[in-house]
Amino acid sequence: MDKKIIILAGAITVFAAVIIYNLYSIVSVKQTVVENNLPSKVKDIVTNQISPGQKNPPAPAPVFSAPLEKAGERVTKKIFGQYITPQNSPVRPEKFRGYHTGTDFEIFPEELNTDVPVRSVCDGKIALKKTATGYGGLLVQNCGLDGQLASPELGDGPISVIYGHLKLTSITKKAGDALPLGEKIGILGKAFSSETSGERKHLHLGIHKGSSVNILGYIQNQSELSGWINPCSLDAVCQ
Ligand SMILES: [Zn+2]
Repeated sequence: MDKKIIILAGAITVFAAVIIYNLYSIVSVKQTVVENNLPSKVKDIVTNQISPGQKNPPAPAPVFSAPLEKAGERVTKKIFGQYITPQNSPVRPEKFRGYHTGTDFEIFPEELNTDVPVRSVCDGKIALKKTATGYGGLLVQNCGLDGQLASPELGDGPISVIYGHLKLTSITKKAGDALPLGEKIGILGKAFSSETSGERKHLHLGIHKGSSVNILGYIQNQSELSGWINPCSLDAVCQ
């Protein structure tokens, strides 16, 4: 009789343990589900990642930004470093040959006859503003003159940024003027006019290492590309 009681008590203990374990599992899963559906700030507090009074650390100030709205969607033809010939070019007819030193941002079809604002991609000042063969309206900006762009990609800075195919008369600022990050520079030049040097309406954005002005849109030796920076390698420029 005693033996039966012991066995019965053992069985009850095991049964109770199984029930408790299962209840605990259900509670844990429920908690996880609840946590996963909370807004991130509340979730951080619930999961003890931050205390309720603690603020998120401040995000670093952006150094670069996109030259056009929806910039990333516009890079559909010539990319940085691409070797272009009249035979293989995505643009016809093509008059250039060489390694493309910049990134081309295309217009959307509905923008052919509307103003397309172009914005500064970094904080700097205007080094040059003129009409140039191959570009039409051209603006060159120096950025990082005080070394604030220093990074592994850029060396110790500074850089010169080329904005090609702009409507020059839409640019109110002049050489020497400050050009802050994200400021509207002007608008794209009219397609196949002197404002674009006879090219389609688009933005050529080139970034050359150093503060000296180099406006070559194509180079003949691939090794010289090392003097240039792929604009789309910089945060936010092609987003
Ligand atoms: Zn180009």
